[in-house]
Amino acid sequence: MKIFLATKNKGKIKDFEKLIEGLDIQILTILDNINIPDVIEDKETFEENSAKKASEIAKYTGIITISDDSGLCVDVLNGEPGVYSARYYGEGATDELNIKKLLEELKSIKKDDRTAYFVSVVSIAFPDGTVKSFRGETKGEILFKKEGNNGFGYDPVFYSYDLNKSFGLATPEEKKSVSHRGRAFRKLREEILERL
Ligand code: IMP
Repeated sequence: MKIFLATKNKGKIKDFEKLIEGLDIQILTILDNINIPDVIEDKETFEENSAKKASEIAKYTGIITISDDSGLCVDVLNGEPGVYSARYYGEGATDELNIKKLLEELKSIKKDDRTAYFVSVVSIAFPDGTVKSFRGETKGEILFKKEGNNGFGYDPVFYSYDLNKSFGLATPEEKKSVSHRGRAFRKLREEILERL
């Protein structure tokens, strides 16, 4: 079975390769020079964005396609930055600037009220138009300052309740065992196994 992985993120490609190790699946990515349409992530939920991307690409290429949409939801901010996590700072957003804005927004919020969770929704779409989505979440709280520099995005300021330390201090293996993406990918694996 051939599966197209709709991401430029090398970390996500590696994670997926590990997940399907030993299965009779050939992974294709944009590095294989596959022509794909430009899909705009303009929806208001992770599910809609993830499913839209996977199904538009699957229909266009005729290849089974997997995509994901993820982000950080902070309870006291009513779930923000949510689907806008990557561009939270606005024009010229970087991980560093997004974290800066988040810490600024939360500066008067006490520890107990800084609860947050990461969400990842992974979708698999088939050229016939069928699409299935799987959601993974992981809970924690936003620290007052960065702890560690591992990972990416908001990892240094996210204290994981599963690991009892920040994702910035976690090894890739530790993070994967409890992360939103790890959880969603493991559900997807079950689906793929049923189809093989
Ligand atoms: P995307 O789903 O790759 O577009 O990611 C959306 C954004 O959510 C990223 O740019 C990060 O800011 C944030 N994010 C998603 N997953 C993680 C994670 O595992 N750690 C830290 N930040 C994340």
